[in-house]
This record gives sequence, C-alpha cells and structure tokens, in this order.
Amino acid sequence: MKLVIISDTHGRHENLGILRGDILIHCGDFEQLFEQDNQAIRKIDAWFGRQEFKHILCIGGNHDLTLEKLVQIKEQPFENAIYLQDTEFVYEGVKFYGAPWVPDLSNHAFYANDLALDQAWAKVPRDVDVLVTHTPPVNILDVSSKGQRLGCASLSRRLQALNPRVHCFGHVHASAGTCVKRGTRYVNASYQPSTSAFEYEFVSRSGKSDPKSWWQKIRKLGAKQTSLSRATT
Ligand SMILES: [Zn+2]
Repeated sequence: MKLVIISDTHGRHENLGILRGDILIHCGDFEQLFEQDNQAIRKIDAWFGRQEFKHILCIGGNHDLTLEKLVQIKEQPFENAIYLQDTEFVYEGVKFYGAPWVPDLSNHAFYANDLALDQAWAKVPRDVDVLVTHTPPVNILDVSSKGQRLGCASLSRRLQALNPRVHCFGHVHASAGTCVKRGTRYVNASYQPSTSAFEYEFVSRSGKSDPKSWWQKIRKLGAKQTSLSRATT
C-alpha cells in the first residue's frame, strides 16, 4: 500500500503536479492565513479531483480559517477527499486517524487549549496505524526557523500510549523531514521546494494482515517528483 503524504501547501499545490498511489494524505494548511481566499477550498478540492489515488484523506491546519467555518455547517466539506476531524478511516486493514488541533495559537483556526488538546488526543484509538495531525508532537521534527520547539506536549504524552506505524504532520515548515523513534516513522511533510511530498509504502512480505509487522520504505519526492533519496526501516 502506497501512501503519499503532503502538508502546508498554502496555495502551492499545483506545483506538485499529479501524484499517484493508494492513499494521499494532506496534513492541513491549504490556505494562507493573511491572504484569505474564499475559493481556497474549492481550488484544492479541484486539485484533489485530479490526483490518482483510491482515497484522499485530509485534515485542517491553523491557517485554514475558511475550512474551520465550513466544517461547522458541513461535516464533509470536500467532494474529492475525506475530511477527518477526530475520526478514523480504515482501508485494507490499516487504521488511519486524523485531527487538526494546534496548541498555542489562540487566534488561528483549529486552536485548542491544553484541556481540549488532552481531550482530543485521548480519542485517538490505541490501535491506530497511521496518525495524521497538523502539529508535530513536542521534540520531534518541531524546531522552527528561529530555533524554538513548537510541537504539542499533550500529543507527545498521548503518543506514549500509542504505537502508530506512521505519524504524519506538518505545521513547522523548517523541520520538514522524517525520522524513526520507538518503531514509529515520523514524517513532517511541510511543503518545501526541494521536498514537496513523501512517498511511504507498506509491504507485506509474509502475507500477514497486521500492518505492525509490515516492512516499510520511504522516499522524498521533489517538486517535480524527482526521487531525491531512499531509506528503509
Ligand atoms: Zn503552514
């Protein structure tokens, strides 16, 4: 099963061209915070419609003010993607779970205070395989361009009780990249001109249906979908 993970496109999604795989995941921030475009959701939705996947999953981010308003009246605001907000989606035995909440930014979209964050992350099922959030957990791929750690401490605490195969997010653009800790592949998929998407593949060599036992590989895609590097775990 091939996942392609993107985040924080901020109106630049057309640069990604046509992506292919089984599941496309957008970890939020389609919009620009200070340049409100009431067509932003329609534009990314049209782009989703041209991508070659079985399913497209997405969540909101702190810049997605239009989306935040829209989901109050419409649970599924996209025609060509499945919007996850404290909800799960299961595909071929792999459990995905998505939530948009961000700490510390009280005047942004999808802000949640400490108590609300604890309550939101408590809902993440223990058997999640692919966790999709906008914020990183604290101390993992969360260092800003000014050297500050901006990740969510509450999410980090909750992760101690979880064992996802993949946790993908964006938000802290300067820390785009990937790492593995305690068996979880973390992917900060924030759009960068050099690395605009991560392609992640689960491979079941033994035919076992448990994703935890699956071999995995990941590669970065450049803006023109050039393979820049390949790593296996
Ligand atoms: Zn962003």
